[in-house]
Amino acid sequence: MTQISVVIPVFNEEESLPELTHWISRVMNERGFSYEVILINDGSTDRSWEVIQNLSAQNIQLKGLNFTRNFGKSAALDAGFRRAQGDVVITMDADLQDSPDEIPGLYEMVSGNGLDVVSGWKKERHDPWSKTIPSKFFNGVTRWISGIQLHDFNCGLKAYRNKVVKNIHIYGEMHRYIPLLAKWNGFGKIGEKVVQHQPRKYGYSKFGLERFLNGFLDLITVSFVHRYKKKPMHFFGLLGTLSFLTGFVITAWLIFEKIYGLSKGLKVREIVDQPLFFLALVALIIGVQLFVTGFIAELMTSNQSKEIEYKIDEEVNFDF
Ligand code: UDP
Ligand code: MG
Repeated sequence: MTQISVVIPVFNEEESLPELTHWISRVMNERGFSYEVILINDGSTDRSWEVIQNLSAQNIQLKGLNFTRNFGKSAALDAGFRRAQGDVVITMDADLQDSPDEIPGLYEMVSGNGLDVVSGWKKERHDPWSKTIPSKFFNGVTRWISGIQLHDFNCGLKAYRNKVVKNIHIYGEMHRYIPLLAKWNGFGKIGEKVVQHQPRKYGYSKFGLERFLNGFLDLITVSFVHRYKKKPMHFFGLLGTLSFLTGFVITAWLIFEKIYGLSKGLKVREIVDQPLFFLALVALIIGVQLFVTGFIAELMTSNQSKEIEYKIDEEVNFDF
């Protein structure tokens, strides 16, 4: 039995890896935990994979996966989650910004207190304000949309019950929304732990300011897909019906006006000379299009494939 799996995505972090893995092993040994550390090399262009191979040759508890190219942090976490054998799975960044000293506390909250997810909260952050201020806003919106009261959704340091990570699939840049995915999949016992945060010691940050725009687009996608994945017609059909009805009512009115006017011998405009006619036309066409979109979406979701997007070419220390 393995108590803890530590899952670490790695993208150009060659300098940090020796210090990080030694620190983790020290914490684990001091506390007598049985553990594994899964390092996923996400297409680094530096010597990260070589370093991982060397380190894992010295310590059987260190396991490595090497992606064929850079697939992103979410894909790396997903690959680690698929392999993780520990009762509690802890994710952390490779850059030494997260402290391995937090591992025992996180483990206790999941294993002892029975929580499904525990998210770190970098209450005192060592990042530039250009990152911390948008981050506050981002967290506020995510709290509001998800109803999950976390302060720091994007914190790399998190702990999960093994069942949780086996039951969610993350891709794209969904790593920011794992607590939402967990909750929507029925793992709603979510806690928070204030964690230490260090300035980046080596290397550079891999996410620039575009993270905030991407983050919001992903939030919209995640919540939309979650709500309508199984019933896209409820979304498109509603809009389509509203649009079509608007067009229908206007058309009916125009025809009525015309017939009524003629019957009274009044002088009435040609229907096609009225702006309302064009509005009706557009509303009718858009309405039909929304319906067709809904049908196509239904067809697509009825034979969805769950293809895994990343490819792994090498592994070390996995015995399955
Ligand atoms: N990372 C990754 N693939 C990527 C980008 C980042 O595996 O394409 C890893 C990176 O090596 C680090 C973690 O994700 O372990 C967080 O990245 P970073 O520290 O650059 O993000 P920040 O702390 O600036 O949010
Ligand atoms: Mg970092």
